[in-house]
Amino acid sequence: MCGIIGLVGSFNHYDVLLKGLKRLEYRGYDSSGIGYLNKDGIVINKYPESVDTLFKEVKKFTAYCSIGHTRWATHGKVSYKNTHPFISKNGLFCLVHNGTINNFLTLKEELISNGYIMNGDTDSEVLVNYLEYLFLNNHNILLSLKLLDSKLDGSYSLVIISKNEEALYFLKNQTSLLLIEKEEGYVLTSDVYSLDDKEINYYEFEDHQYGKIDNNVEIYKNDIKISHNFKRLIKDDVNINSCSCYLEKELFECPALIEKEIQYYSKSESIPQNVINELNSKRKIYVIGCGTSFHAGLIFKEIVDKEVEVILASEFIYQNKSLNENDGYIFISQSGETLDVIRSIEKVKNAFFISITNNKDSTISRKSKYHFDIMVQKEISVASTKAYFGEVVFLYILAKRMNDENYKEIFDLPFRMNQIKSNIKEIETLAYQVKEYKNLLFLGKGIDYLSCLECSLKLKEITYIHSEAIYLGELKHGPLALINKDFPSIILITNDELKEIGEISINEIKSRDGKVFIKQFDSSYKLSFLLQVYYYDFLAFLVAKNLGVNIDKPRNLAKSVTVE
Ligand code: GLU
Repeated sequence: MCGIIGLVGSFNHYDVLLKGLKRLEYRGYDSSGIGYLNKDGIVINKYPESVDTLFKEVKKFTAYCSIGHTRWATHGKVSYKNTHPFISKNGLFCLVHNGTINNFLTLKEELISNGYIMNGDTDSEVLVNYLEYLFLNNHNILLSLKLLDSKLDGSYSLVIISKNEEALYFLKNQTSLLLIEKEEGYVLTSDVYSLDDKEINYYEFEDHQYGKIDNNVEIYKNDIKISHNFKRLIKDDVNINSCSCYLEKELFECPALIEKEIQYYSKSESIPQNVINELNSKRKIYVIGCGTSFHAGLIFKEIVDKEVEVILASEFIYQNKSLNENDGYIFISQSGETLDVIRSIEKVKNAFFISITNNKDSTISRKSKYHFDIMVQKEISVASTKAYFGEVVFLYILAKRMNDENYKEIFDLPFRMNQIKSNIKEIETLAYQVKEYKNLLFLGKGIDYLSCLECSLKLKEITYIHSEAIYLGELKHGPLALINKDFPSIILITNDELKEIGEISINEIKSRDGKVFIKQFDSSYKLSFLLQVYYYDFLAFLVAKNLGVNIDKPRNLAKSVTVE
């Protein structure tokens, strides 16, 4: 979701800025723009289009400092007037923003009553003008940033050019913003992947920090100067090599990656016994996540012998129930930056909790005393596939450790996934048929229903085919009304005892001209429910490929959901 990159120093600004935005594309966006300061003043170029348009339209330039932005619209339509960067009324500041401001209308009214006119609908345009409005009263940018911070209710990473200085200013709350040290100068960015360097030195700003970056680094919080230490990061290799898109690469590499994860987490010290004991001692465990991570949490609930409630983070934040101090929490987020999950953690911060992410250097990992990395390496494609398996593998081992049971079946999982991979021709044939439909049901029972939820999410997300996951037993209670020759069903059954009941539903569907697709999986293998997800993830990928849609960047979606 939204990407920011800002540069100050002797960079080739054109090159690093535009390539940086290109590298941030994976986060999901709908408009792109840049702004820079050179001897002629502030210049901006922006388009409610992709970064490729910037490459086509923007002439090479030199600059003292520059900022770039990929916007994922939250306030106002995708249009020129709502595209970042924004310049303030008197031209003193140029700003890009990631996040959302809840009280922007109040601030906007105050500005309007003071003679400001805003052309667009965004909260971000209000911010650049409000900063200028504060500055014109006190003539001090750092003080104005501090005051702005105290006025805002919401999430914001702001990177700002000031008309009269060869410097970048910033302000950060809730959404992530990093400072990267380079030979040529400094980079301010939402994500380490905006630079193609394999190794980088970075510092992550904390909430409510603000400051100025030129040859020096000045960071403040409440007027107090903050010292900073750069951390070294060696990035995962994310080359696509021979694959057509990241999703294909990520599906193919998944078995090898989870094999490493299984080796690691099967060493007992990698999940300390005190964590197992703490979780077991709790009255109840809440598992909190969104989307795919929520689905992974449901698998944990199914496996563990303990009272568990799985809740969507966006619901948990607004629940009014009082918290019981004997409860424990498990937070799951692929990116480690999901805002709803971060806010959920803040709600229970004094309770015992663990977190699970695919990013050991994230806001969520830093907030957690016990953080577990699923180790499947950076995921670029918006649809999460390998991270789902990474999360489920960890949660499965955790649940089995809590149950004091062995989990030897998991060691066979990578091998069995590889078998599916080598049989992709069969899935291609199925994809060829499925691509003809506009709607589809995934039907299952018990743990297979939980796989249906994930398969259905992936299919709709990547192919735009409408699909729903339904309990087999619910078919007659409503969804059967949808069935006709244009509305097929995919049945997931890995439990032999349920085959008979499945047959009844299949006949009911067929009697109404509904097409049924069913793939047999080895019912003697305990983790076949997961193999199904791997199989149907490939199906979603192959259908999307057939339909010619943008597989890695489905419309309207973003990779890390950093706004509410
Ligand atoms: N709320 C801002 C807008 O709608 C920023 C969204 C973003 O983070 O990309 O433009």
